[in-house]
Amino acid sequence: MLVSEGFTTQNGTAAGDSLAVSVVVPVYNEVEALPHLLAAIATTLKTNQISYEIICVDDGSTDGSTEFLKQQAETRTDLKAVLLRRNYGQTAAMAAGFKYATGKAIVTLDADLQNDPEDIPQLLAKLEAGYDLVSGWRIKRQDAAVTRLLPSKIANWLIGRTTGVKLHDYGCSLKAYRSELVADMNLYGELHRFLPALAYIEGARIAELPVRHHARRFGRSKYGLWRTFRVLMDLLTISFMKKFLTRPMHVFGLFGLLSIALGMLLGLYLTFLKLGLGQSIGNRPLLFLAVLLLLTGVQLFCFGLLAELLMRTYHESQGRPIYRVREVVGKNVK
Ligand code: UDP
Ligand code: MG
Repeated sequence: MLVSEGFTTQNGTAAGDSLAVSVVVPVYNEVEALPHLLAAIATTLKTNQISYEIICVDDGSTDGSTEFLKQQAETRTDLKAVLLRRNYGQTAAMAAGFKYATGKAIVTLDADLQNDPEDIPQLLAKLEAGYDLVSGWRIKRQDAAVTRLLPSKIANWLIGRTTGVKLHDYGCSLKAYRSELVADMNLYGELHRFLPALAYIEGARIAELPVRHHARRFGRSKYGLWRTFRVLMDLLTISFMKKFLTRPMHVFGLFGLLSIALGMLLGLYLTFLKLGLGQSIGNRPLLFLAVLLLLTGVQLFCFGLLAELLMRTYHESQGRPIYRVREVVGKNVK
């Protein structure tokens, strides 16, 4: 059975030699934490007999993380160091890591040891139980209350409402994915926290699992309140994508036609007043409303047509089908 192909067995037998898991870690100025992090990941996965690779993506660090990772990757076999040319941000670093990952599952976590590598096996076990994505939930989160926990509470609520995926903690970096799921997702902005939402749009089965969380012991956080704004903007993009990705005309066309219809009704009424009853209509606000509705309606309608064309270009140019297949069953299926 596909789901029990074993993320947790060493050197998977039936499924060839691919590794069970690629651990992807974005790194930006975390030189003090790195030795502890690598050791913790390696120890946990070895103890649990899970074949693994660690992919550290250096996001343009300036504190020596780059040199450390490079030197480590030259000496040990379980580490790939992907060194970006400059600082692109956490989402881009994660996307780069995904690109070089070869494991059957992908686990992401932060370099600062706020996430606990010891949670990785239980995330993998959950994947094995049949989920496509397992998201960590920092039940006892160790961050500042006002600047971090509060905005995060609001953001979580909003994201849940807008995307329809009900998780407690979207911002938790510790997540596990089936690698096929990640393979064809494109990430932008701060979108990494929306991966569950994007995956959900694509029909993935999603689970949430309580994980540990520690206060930062080394280095400093790379974010402040500003991130909340960026997350909100990304939320708009996501909710737009969710609704309009395949049929924008259904929405724009509908509102366009409604607006046109209402404008026409008002226009007819005013025409009747003018021609039928001989009243003057030049100074009536209703006239402006009618004109406005007609114009807006036509614009919305045309905008919908344009969006429709754009979406077709989007899907066709990337060879992206509008559906996702979970599995094909049959004796002659390769
Ligand atoms: N990070 C990154 N590029 C950036 C900012 C952050 O790769 O531009 C990494 C950082 O090294 C850490 C993770 O993203 O591994 C999360 O960052 P941080 O711990 O500062 O976020 P917080 O836990 O405070 O939300
Ligand atoms: Mg952190």
